[in-house]
Amino acid sequence: MDISKKTKLKPTIGLEIHIELRTKSKMFCACSADHFGKKANSLTCPVCLGLPGALPVPNKKAIEWTILFGKALNSRINHYSKFDRKHYFYPDLPKGYQISQYDIPFCEGGYVKVGDKNINITRVHLEEDTGKLQHKKIKDKEVSLVDFNRSGVPLMEIVTEPDIESADQAKQFAKKIRRIARYLDISDCDMEKGSMRLEANVSWGIDLGYKVEVKNLNSFNYLKKAIEYELERQNKLIAKGEMPIQETRGWDENKNITVSQRVKETSADYRYFPEPDIPPIHFTKTYIEELSAKMPNLPDDYENILIEFNVPEQFIDIILEDIHLAEYTIKEIKYSKKQNEKLSPQVIVEEIINKKLQPQKAIVGKVTKDILSKKQSIIKNEGELEDLVEKAIQQNKKAVSDYKSGKIQAISALMGTVMAISKGKADPKKTIQLLKDRLK
Ligand code: ADP
Ligand code: MG
Ligand code: ZN
Repeated sequence: MDISKKTKLKPTIGLEIHIELRTKSKMFCACSADHFGKKANSLTCPVCLGLPGALPVPNKKAIEWTILFGKALNSRINHYSKFDRKHYFYPDLPKGYQISQYDIPFCEGGYVKVGDKNINITRVHLEEDTGKLQHKKIKDKEVSLVDFNRSGVPLMEIVTEPDIESADQAKQFAKKIRRIARYLDISDCDMEKGSMRLEANVSWGIDLGYKVEVKNLNSFNYLKKAIEYELERQNKLIAKGEMPIQETRGWDENKNITVSQRVKETSADYRYFPEPDIPPIHFTKTYIEELSAKMPNLPDDYENILIEFNVPEQFIDIILEDIHLAEYTIKEIKYSKKQNEKLSPQVIVEEIINKKLQPQKAIVGKVTKDILSKKQSIIKNEGELEDLVEKAIQQNKKAVSDYKSGKIQAISALMGTVMAISKGKADPKKTIQLLKDRLK
């Protein structure tokens, strides 16, 4: 039974997305933030190891990028902001607290358009990443090792309102967030490397008073599958008259199920308080304006242009995945229009996609010229085509008799031969007609 049919309940989803910023140095010290695949604990210092007395100094670039990202999501930027300590105990957190932002994040509010719907943003804040545990067997003993290279890497968190109404919408939203971060060039958002991490909060409505948080979603497909699974699991419980419990679950990618991890802490358990070693930060209006002036074109800007050019939706989606591809494609379409060539944008886009063009190396105008020269070399002359058809018929006696005995698909063999001997230059529409006429 689907409870949404009988009741007013509907899928209610909020996302929390963490993105590691690709700054040169870490969030609060001078260590390199480029940690992936490096020798364990080679990128550490007293600050990111949490040694007593070490003083954090905030990374200006990371703050600017977070504000720029917030601007891209239409958020309000707080002119007064601060960092806070969030306390919990775990071996990958050397200080016993994480420097994060509690009640005054850099960015609040905003929205991202997904299809026709605006998904509202709660906040975008900045914090530091934790170290990483490695579970190993050394001399027959199970041990846990800690690598602090990732400790203190700038981590931006985006939190949405519980506005998302389906697994697919959640996936589209997350993809859009990745696109925006890549367009701003502030992260590689590589989910396999963990530089983008997704968490989904799922329920059948705010009023039911519970939510289930699903972690460990390291691909857009897992995000989608986990939400689908979770909605169905909760649906079954509610249909039986049981209320799902509030908890944290993890995605098991082998079994395709979510599994319970723990009953969730409330935010009071973190004993948040202002970070005493970092003074609050004030931003002037001019500073924010100057930052906003650095905003590049965003996916939506390019999307609108491509829609105006009537490029089909499925192509737009591919083109928008890469800012350079989007920029190049639009330039190429504009070039072709300027030359007054009667090429449809769709033909140009298809050629760009099929050729897997490297947009950063491509020369504007080349695709248009290629398509035109291909078009010109197409054989349309009836006499020439008739010769080709005749040759194909001579070479394919079996296909001819098959066709005549009713196997009409045998014509594709003849068509194939015409294409082969004309090196793909025969006009397909005319050839097929000539073949049909000739075989009547
Ligand atoms: P927490 O303090 O546990 O992190 P928040 O209230 O900050 O909880 O919400 C975290 C995320 O959960 C947000 O993305 C929010 O939209 C989402 N969320 C809140 N309530 C629900 C709910 N009932 N169902 C689904 N998601 C929810
Ligand atoms: Mg949370
Ligand atoms: Zn350090």
